[in-house]
Amino acid sequence: MASPAKIAKQDLETLQGFLHCVSPTLVSKRNSKYFTALLQTSRDDFHKVICFCQEKQTSFAQASKNKTGVKLTNVKRSISYSDPSGFDILCNRSTTLEVVTLSFLPKVPPSSAKLTIAKVQRLGPRQTVGVLTAKILAPGSHNRVVNVNGSDLELQEFQIGDSSGHLKLSLWDQQIVQVEPQKSYKFTNLSTREREGRIYLSGTPSTTIVEIDDLQIPEFSELTDAEKLSEWSGTITGIQILCKHRCAKCQTAQNEFAGKSSVHRCIGCKLMQKCSSYNKTYTGTVSLTKDGTDHTLTITNSAIRSYFSEQDMCHLLQDVQDMEEHFINAGDFSVLLNEDGLISKITRTVEDKPDAADYQDKDTSNAPQ
Ligand SMILES: [Zn+2]
Repeated sequence: MASPAKIAKQDLETLQGFLHCVSPTLVSKRNSKYFTALLQTSRDDFHKVICFCQEKQTSFAQASKNKTGVKLTNVKRSISYSDPSGFDILCNRSTTLEVVTLSFLPKVPPSSAKLTIAKVQRLGPRQTVGVLTAKILAPGSHNRVVNVNGSDLELQEFQIGDSSGHLKLSLWDQQIVQVEPQKSYKFTNLSTREREGRIYLSGTPSTTIVEIDDLQIPEFSELTDAEKLSEWSGTITGIQILCKHRCAKCQTAQNEFAGKSSVHRCIGCKLMQKCSSYNKTYTGTVSLTKDGTDHTLTITNSAIRSYFSEQDMCHLLQDVQDMEEHFINAGDFSVLLNEDGLISKITRTVEDKPDAADYQDKDTSNAPQ
């Protein structure tokens, strides 16, 4: 990214259009503050705007919100990573914004429009993908726990595909348990990332995932990214499950969550909210005895949640101790372990006899009213 000092006077020009998608303040690798936006310069042309003068953010955001046409003076064109045939627009302190009337109408920018995987692969890193419909091609792999801004988040990679191609999608925490292999989804607000020269997608705090009708897509032969998992069977001789609450509005992890009250004030955004509106994440330490030896393993939120949902026992998720007791009393388990010792899947090795599951109380249709 060019720095403001590199904008030479003779290259400065004036551009008109509608501003869209004004970002909050961002910090560059070199620690300078900036924000981004999109300028719609004609009916169908959109250009990324990078503004190194944070003070202008309010007036940009205002123009975007009110859908007023603007004239930007003292801006510079630069090469675009996201659109090689187009250009980006650089603004700095000397840039001025003036309200003007334009001969075309504001339009929803393409980044909030629907893209295909082939189009995503042509984007640069850190670009927003507004809407993408794709199928989860294989079970999630490469489970890990990543520390983001002081809180531990679970991360899992999925291969997704549509009729134009396939790529990797990293999903976080609650998003992981919202998808299943061979099902198709509409994803919103994903973001592109780059690793070893390849573009992949990542979920963002504003990502939504909705299941849709099955997408008919070709078989991809080169999906050979399987992770080495080992399968262990044994008895759980000790377990501790922790439940962490995270604000659904600002994503801040809450340190203390008073059990008795029905409401809780977020320590991040300070909003008072119902306790039930916070996202819950479970993590656990499991002592698994296999062939007479104790092993200490870590179990992830997605493994815990998919276990209880497969057992049709989601009601146990309400109480950490109920979950712990279930694991201790339910007999033998088989687990899939990745190379970091994280349990990515847990299943019971012996199925319940039907009468042992009576406490689920599922069929009450014959019960007296
Ligand atoms: Zn909050």
